[in-house]
Amino acid sequence: MSNPKTRRAQSIIKPDRDRRFVTEDNPFEAMMNRFDDAARRLNLEPGLYKVLRSPEKQIIVSVPILRDSGEIEVYTGIRVLHNTSRGPAKGGIRFDLAVTLDEVKALAAWMTWKCAVVNLPFGGGKGGVICDPTTMSAAELERLTRRYTAEIIEILGPDSDVPAPDVNTNERVMAWIMDTYSMHKGHTVTAVVTGKPVEMGGSLGRKDATGRGCLVVTKRALDRLGIPVEKAKVVVQGFGNVGSTAARLMAAEGMQVVAVSDKSGGIHDPKGLDIPKVIEWIKEHRFVEGYPGAERLTNEELLTLKCDVLVPAALENVITSKNAEKIKAKIICEGANGPTTAKADAILDKKGIFVIPDILANAGGVTVSYFEWVQDRGGYFWDEETVNERLEKIMVKAFDEVVAMAEKHQVSNRIASYMLAIDRVAAMHRMRGLYA
Ligand code: NAD
Repeated sequence: MSNPKTRRAQSIIKPDRDRRFVTEDNPFEAMMNRFDDAARRLNLEPGLYKVLRSPEKQIIVSVPILRDSGEIEVYTGIRVLHNTSRGPAKGGIRFDLAVTLDEVKALAAWMTWKCAVVNLPFGGGKGGVICDPTTMSAAELERLTRRYTAEIIEILGPDSDVPAPDVNTNERVMAWIMDTYSMHKGHTVTAVVTGKPVEMGGSLGRKDATGRGCLVVTKRALDRLGIPVEKAKVVVQGFGNVGSTAARLMAAEGMQVVAVSDKSGGIHDPKGLDIPKVIEWIKEHRFVEGYPGAERLTNEELLTLKCDVLVPAALENVITSKNAEKIKAKIICEGANGPTTAKADAILDKKGIFVIPDILANAGGVTVSYFEWVQDRGGYFWDEETVNERLEKIMVKAFDEVVAMAEKHQVSNRIASYMLAIDRVAAMHRMRGLYA
């Protein structure tokens, strides 16, 4: 019989997605390779290269908690600040058995580049606790969160390090972090985390932000390629927060979303799926599987469908050297982090596919996190229309800057996005100088 406490925990922690360990270009190594490529093209000074490759701070802490059974268990918690030259570190906290220091270091660097591409005054950070949250009760998770927060409190703060939700953490966990931090400070500090419930200082528009950002850059790319929005055929892999929002907003703009998928496989209707209906179906049945009136297809088949826009919004490493040649989309908008391997990059380039790279395409989420931080600090909250307008402005500007960089240096959009980001962080280091 299942433990009722575990059942309760499962309802507040979203289930982990499949973690896949593939070796064709480990996504984090691939990210660092792209960093190297971009740094070379920028002729980055060797000293700055060394500085930007090294995380500023790494903290490893023991997190002892009392289990409901009365036993004490000790978990390992990590927080890494990669670079804070442009502002406080920004980046998620994950609770997962697969968390390692190396992965957290790479993800923190990824956040530095993502924030710099969209020109936010933030650096990059990441953290995690090595644990299996699905086997913990809500009370155990709360104790774990609060003790982890207390252990890393010296680096947390609205001016130094601002966490957000990530794999297996959510707005409930952010509320506990905010409360623990505030108790230590003796007053309420909402701006110490983002991704909080709206009632306690979260931002309107945050839930849709990443998918909305995908919509904005996709429209810009369609315009560049001379494809009318209403004629665009779209395929979306992954129907979670990012994928379902992108599909819903793109359909609402008149695009034809012809296929979507999730863990259970895909559904395809060449005339266009009724996305609000698919969303209703999922609310009741959890997965797209069984959705009436559409053909079934596998995730692999879905990636190679003929379409104008492919939005991989599920997992890393789905577009590889094995299937890149077969991809027929004209535009790939990377909703997920690291969906394309470095080997596949070269093939997509050769085929002339217009790739909107992850650090640009899915930066809408961190952009609205920035808005949340700004609103918390100002104590003045914007309506959703204002949030969406400001998000669009930032995404359009970043898209145009990446494309201009790609044209100027005759490189792919991906390398251009890294060049833009590294250039911005490096410029800050040059202006600030080296404190010694
Ligand atoms: P989610 O957990 O809400 O949804 C993930 C979706 O992927 C689900 O529909 C799931 O069924 C599907 N999926 C899982 N395994 C699959 C498989 N093997 N094949 C096909 N589909 C599969 O996650 P999310 O928040 O939408 O994040 C998706 C991706 O976007 C991740 O790479 C995440 O890091 C990235 N991302 C998310 C945000 C955000 O704001 N949520 C921001 C930036 C980047």
